[in-house]
Amino acid sequence: MINLAIVGAAGRMGQALVRCAPCFKQLQLVAAVDRADCPLLGKDSGATSGTGETGVPMTADLDAAARVAAVLVDFSFHTNVPVTAQAAAAAGRALVLGTTGLTPSEEQAIRAAAGVIPVVWAPNMSLGVNVLFALVKQAAATLGLDYDVEIVETHHRFKKDAPSGTALRLAERIAEGRNQSLGDVACYGRKGISGERPKGEIAIHALRMGDVVGDHTVTFGVAGERVELTHKASSRDAFAMGALRAAQWAAGRKPGLYDMSDVLGL
Ligand code: NAD
Repeated sequence: MINLAIVGAAGRMGQALVRCAPCFKQLQLVAAVDRADCPLLGKDSGATSGTGETGVPMTADLDAAARVAAVLVDFSFHTNVPVTAQAAAAAGRALVLGTTGLTPSEEQAIRAAAGVIPVVWAPNMSLGVNVLFALVKQAAATLGLDYDVEIVETHHRFKKDAPSGTALRLAERIAEGRNQSLGDVACYGRKGISGERPKGEIAIHALRMGDVVGDHTVTFGVAGERVELTHKASSRDAFAMGALRAAQWAAGRKPGLYDMSDVLGL
């Protein structure tokens, strides 16, 4: 059995992970961690997940969780990511990281941890989106710079970062496919007299509304035609199942930085 700790366990993704964990017979939930001021501390981690009781109470003690877990899965908040990474590294545990909106210094903390433990880091853990990453790179390489690229993502009104980590990863894959540096060609929304569209620009737009779990559409447009590639997530279970698959894959692996294409063998 592989002992599993969930960090951010009271959140939307944390609860999806608690709900989906029993689908993985090799994983055993041993710790459910959330903030020190979380109103669910001390309560059973399954109480609000829709699965029933897990026998694992919600705790704020991350270090204790890292001691008993073989793998930590973090879907919390970007400022907490270095703390989780350090706890996992200090205890020598594998880490699966789904939290998005990281600053460069927070990303550096992940890279440092990956020097001593296996870290699977992906802005989107669903199988479908990881296939989409490969498809947009191939389309971009084939269609080239003549095709204008616009990425539109939609998420629920509670999402804290924009654009989504998935939209940024899609943009990176497109830039790779066209031999561009995303920093040179990215455009985050438009306003005012924005002028004619520069050739090679990759534009990203973020919509926030209602309870949308996560939609991403990449459009390649040229005079005469458009190609649209779309992924729509209708349940967080798609991300949770991918993250748990990553947890099973990462436990016991050698240190390094991995992503879902490694886990899924894409
Ligand atoms: P949420 O706000 O519902 O849940 C986050 C949880 O983390 C909350 O319970 C919060 O109390 C907890 N938390 C915050 N700070 C903490 C700390 N210091 N220690 C422990 N727990 C802490 O958010 P969500 O919708 O579940 O999303 C969480 C993150 O996962 C976001 O960054 C989101 O973008 C990302 N996400 C990634 C994927 C993916 O596939 N990689 C999919 C969906 C969401």
